[in-house]
Amino acid sequence: LDPALLRPGRFDRQVVVDIPDIKGREGILKVHTSKIPLAKSVNLHVIARGTPGFSGADLANLVNEAALSAAKKNKRKVGMEEFEFSKDKVLMGPERRSVVISEEERRITAYHESGHAILGMLLPNADPVHKMTIIPRGLSLGLTQSLPETDKHNLKREYINDQITLLMGGRAAEEIVFGKGGITTGAQNDIERATKTARKMVCEWGMSEKLGPLQYGQKEEPIFIGKEIARHKDYSEKTSEMIDAEIREIVESAY
Ligand code: ZN
Repeated sequence: LDPALLRPGRFDRQVVVDIPDIKGREGILKVHTSKIPLAKSVNLHVIARGTPGFSGADLANLVNEAALSAAKKNKRKVGMEEFEFSKDKVLMGPERRSVVISEEERRITAYHESGHAILGMLLPNADPVHKMTIIPRGLSLGLTQSLPETDKHNLKREYINDQITLLMGGRAAEEIVFGKGGITTGAQNDIERATKTARKMVCEWGMSEKLGPLQYGQKEEPIFIGKEIARHKDYSEKTSEMIDAEIREIVESAY
């Protein structure tokens, strides 16, 4: 839609559609698979369970990709393995096997991803590791994918802490194996996500002892779609420094 349509006085009523829960996902899968010949092995309930966080559009995409990959293999029916394949494609982006990666880079990626995966298995509150790969997918050279066992609507602090630790695991592995001089830019996205999460813990979720259960910075509602939500600063310079120090403390202790 043209953002101008959302100016006050035009379409100013908004309906929030939450992403579907497991029952919703199964229902959506039923709708999208109704015209597709499914093999007996296909269990929509299992697919719904393995796709937490998927939107209706993601599920439609998943079904479409599964049908395409069955057609490519000249299969008459879409089986469970096609769904598994397309789930990975939707979750992690398409494989880019054509990219030439040196042996050295592949080695670094393998250690980086292992760092994430080992923590995924060791941390008591982390989601189980679903799959890991060092075949480039989407924009990344490798990927470790964990999937929650159930839909999560409310996150515990210990879960969030483990989440940050898991994110820092890639960089930590690089440093252990290759030393301080051997760390790479591969951790950029991990660091970005860890920092954002730590900021939310401090500024929105009241999870910092030092700053207490307060909200820092009021969100300004975006008037136009596509505009970043701006933060209105409503605290002192001194508090600002404390917030920065606390975010740093959370991420560094996780590391
Ligand atoms: Zn990583």
